[in-house]
Amino acid sequence: MTTDTISSALCTTIAEAHGAVFSARMANRTIGLVPTMGALHEGHLSLIRRAAAENGFVVVSVFVNPIQFDDAADFVAYPHTIEEDAALAIDAGADAVFAPSAKEMYPDGFSSYIDMGGITERLCGAARKAHFRGVCTVVGKLFHIVQPDRAYFGEKDAQQLAVVRKMVRDLNFPIRIVGCPTVREPDGLAMSSRNARLSQEERKAARCLFRALSEACRLFAEEGARGAAALTGAMRGVLAAEPLARAEYVEIVDPETFASRAPEAAVHAGDRAMLAVHVGGVRLIDNMELTETRETLADHD
Ligand code: AMP
Repeated sequence: MTTDTISSALCTTIAEAHGAVFSARMANRTIGLVPTMGALHEGHLSLIRRAAAENGFVVVSVFVNPIQFDDAADFVAYPHTIEEDAALAIDAGADAVFAPSAKEMYPDGFSSYIDMGGITERLCGAARKAHFRGVCTVVGKLFHIVQPDRAYFGEKDAQQLAVVRKMVRDLNFPIRIVGCPTVREPDGLAMSSRNARLSQEERKAARCLFRALSEACRLFAEEGARGAAALTGAMRGVLAAEPLARAEYVEIVDPETFASRAPEAAVHAGDRAMLAVHVGGVRLIDNMELTETRETLADHD
């Protein structure tokens, strides 16, 4: 791919993004948006390919959103690889790559936020108070800037997907939200830009997330376990056996509200097993839907 192809697709200002989308609209093309924070991997590329298959014009945003990080060190450590990202995105079917600066998105005096409450205060929002406020605000801004017909989000971040669906309903964005399945490494680890920060030993240890979730799914589907405590206890057991892993949360949740099932409550097909686990210094999240028939690793190959 030539640098000319990349630079003609790359928009760094909101005005440039408007221009690219305006031309596509004038040509009667539907617009798909894939919001990302960059360091693109196969998980992101699966969203871009799907967007390209379903729309006439695809915008991929690459923006490490400072206001969704509670932990300054995590923000600073987040990889920035815009040249490679733009090439990968275009190769997967993106027509425009919107990579604004923080100043472009949040100029001096910026003070309007989307604050949802409820679902955003649980799980990933419980320990990180500003996280979903930052996510909703940046996604809301991207929706206004790009005005897509469809926007693509991964089930890897299932709570985020549910939050965005609710925001779109609550605030009447005329946008269809498309959820896409989690793409995994051959050993089951969900692909994530943060995986690159794991040492070799931590990378091996990180497999415990998939093992714990698979065990919950197995108990539900094959042994008829229906108590929330039995399933979360089994997941905690798997995680505890891995010395490099420290669980932040281990829950079975209602798939709409993401409220945790109480330990004594029954769980149902469609509920989700949710994990946040620190492996070394890296925080990883993953989740799986509980189904009557069990998903196996072979399903991901
Ligand atoms: P991020 O760059 O991590 O903010 O992710 C951007 C989008 O890609 C979000 O909608 C994520 O849910 C999605 N995504 C990240 N990792 C994966 C994965 N392994 N499989 C599918 N989607 C993913």
